[in-house]
Order: sequence, then structure tokens, then C-alpha cells
Amino acid sequence: MNESLATLVQRKADEVIQWRRRIHENPELSFHETETSALIEEKLRAFGVDVIRRIGKSQTGICAELYGTADGPKRCIGIRADIDALPIREQSGVPYASKRDGVFHGCGHDSHAAILLGTAWLLSDLRDTFSGCVKFFFQHAEEELGGGREFMEAGVMENPHVDGVMALHALPDIYVGEIGVRDDFMTAGVDLLKVTVEGKQAHGGYPHYGVDTILAASTIVTTLQSLGSRELAPTDCAFVTFGRIEGGISNSYIGGPVVLEGCIRYLRKTTQELFHRRVREIATGVGTALKANVTVEITPEMIPTCVDKTWVDRIRRVCRDVASVERVIDLPSPAMGGEDYAYYLEKAPGTLFRLGVRTPGGPHCPTHSINFYVDDRAVPIGMEVLAAAALDALARG
Ligand SMILES: [Zn+2]
Ligand SMILES: [Zn+2]
Repeated sequence: MNESLATLVQRKADEVIQWRRRIHENPELSFHETETSALIEEKLRAFGVDVIRRIGKSQTGICAELYGTADGPKRCIGIRADIDALPIREQSGVPYASKRDGVFHGCGHDSHAAILLGTAWLLSDLRDTFSGCVKFFFQHAEEELGGGREFMEAGVMENPHVDGVMALHALPDIYVGEIGVRDDFMTAGVDLLKVTVEGKQAHGGYPHYGVDTILAASTIVTTLQSLGSRELAPTDCAFVTFGRIEGGISNSYIGGPVVLEGCIRYLRKTTQELFHRRVREIATGVGTALKANVTVEITPEMIPTCVDKTWVDRIRRVCRDVASVERVIDLPSPAMGGEDYAYYLEKAPGTLFRLGVRTPGGPHCPTHSINFYVDDRAVPIGMEVLAAAALDALARG
């Protein structure tokens, strides 16, 4: 099946890889994707897509609509790619390395953008073979987690209503030719956490006249580690991380205020509720025990990405017909980072899958590292899987 699709992919692959390299050489930070979105819009116009809308206060997101001309059911499928880069100095050594000092596509969004453009090209060539609509979401500002919300505020999941949605993300933990899937959670929910500890100032030689905030704060940090290991079923995953501590007075004084900043990462709503309650109880309980005044602020930042099994099975099924996919791997665990694609899955069932980008025999170059690397051969694979899955969903629902 879809031999014509495979042939079409072969014919377009080199050019799409060139777009990917051009975007890689000219990376742009969240909300500043001006050149990237101009390139995307130029190509979409050349393909003859029906609708192109700019999204967000920076107007660097793009939502495009392509309508099939065949008779049949009028479904609408959305495909999302993020397009922004990171404030990292690239040291990957590739010939098409970043020309902007301190800005780097260290998460693979250059390949995501090119793959989705390639998919739009494929589907516009094939528009007389399907009915319904495909929406292409070229989302700005994923790394700073603002673009996804702006896409939702712009109502991209309605008019026409999106019946199902897909996205892929590069994964350097698996090889080119491999696709990674899971049946439930793909990324974590994240809540920001701020704990303020107030005590009573005293000279360090007379600690019995004061309340030691550094002792209380350190006890809170260590005690909260027991939440993930002692209060959660070992098959679930959630934890507290502190990334910043600030406070105290000097070598010889105790009792100055201490602020702890961190986050709670979780998958299930019930676990989120448990952690909210227990973080407050433990932090204020330690404060009571050590005579310190403790306040806890929790601010939800991102919801988890939970995929739909029907959609995951669709990816498994279409991958059997994509010759360049050697195998589909069931990933053992979700990524515990946040991903604002979660908002799209709140509005419609769908999936997020992982595209293997590591060169067989090559080094492991982790996401967001200075030498992150995407093997170009992953680009046509991503295009073919997305296009095949979109055609399948438009035809079969
Ligand atoms: Zn990313
Ligand atoms: Zn990232």
C-alpha cells in the first residue's frame, strides 16, 4: 500500500533535508521565529494550501489548512510541529551548524518544522486522493511554553473542528529507522513550587536564641524526597526537584529568610493532588517541628501529555507499510519534561510519537545538550509516517 507515497517521499527528501539544514543554520528563540515562519509561509504558499493564518502576539506561529478534493467523509486532522530553538552554544561540529552565536536547535525543532513542511508538500500533491481537511500547526515558543496556549486561544482546534491530532518529537535515545510509542503518558505534568522559610535571627554562637531557617529548609528538601519513594506506588512516577535555594545572612548569623524554588513533576491527576497536599503538610510540618514559619506556593505550569490508544495503534499499523521504519519500540517510560502539545490533546484524541534520530554506531547526543544531533535520514521517515497516518485517519476515522 502507498507505494506512490513512498516514491513521492523519495523524490522530495533531498529538498526537505536542505530546508531542515537552512532552519538549523538560522535558529531563532521562542517568540522570535521571524525568518523560520517566513520560510514556512513561503513554502506553504508554493504548495497551494487553502488557508494560512499567523498565530500569537509575536505572529510567528502558523496554522495552515489544506482541503482534499475527493468525495468522501469530511474529517479534519491536525498535525503539530514546534519550530523554536534554544539559548545554547552549538558544538555539534556539523557543516550546517548554527550561524547565530548562542542559539541552537538543540531539541530538533528544525527537523520537526521541515518534516511538517514536507508532509504538507506530500499531502498537497495528493489532495485529489482524500476528502476532508488537514491542519498544519507550525507552533512557535514551545521551549518557553507559551506558543501552545496561544494556539488554543486562537481557536485552532475549531472551525473546522479537529477530530484527531498528531505530533512527533526527535529522540536521540533511539536510532534512525526506529519509532518510539507509548499507550498512555508521553510527557509529565509540571507545577512550579516555591517554599519560603522564616525564622528568628540570632548570632551563630547563641543558636538557642534564634530559629534556624537553613536547618529547616534543608530538612524540607530532604524530607520531600520521601514522597516519590515512599508515598507513591512504585509503578507510578512523580517527584519534587529544587533547582534554587536563596537565603541566610552570613557565616556567623542564623535565622534569615530562605526561599526554595523547584517543581513537582507528575503523570496522574490523583498523584498531582496527593503531592499538592503532602508537600504542604510536610513543609509546614517540618516548620512546626523546627519552630520556623513556612509558606508554600504551587503554580500549575503544564499538564501531562496523555495519548489515545487508537491513535497509537494507527501509528503502529501505518509503520508496517513504511519500508524505512525498521521497528516500532514500546518506550519503557515517559519523558518527565513538560511539553505544551498537551493542550492539543485536551481538545482532541491523538498521539505524540518519538522519531529515532541517532546514527547507528554514532554517539548518544542527548536532547538540549551542546552536541545534540539529528541524522538527516530521519526526515523522510517522519514525513512518510505523518502523511500515511493522516491519510489513514481521514479515510477511516
Ligand atoms: Zn523539543
Ligand atoms: Zn526542548
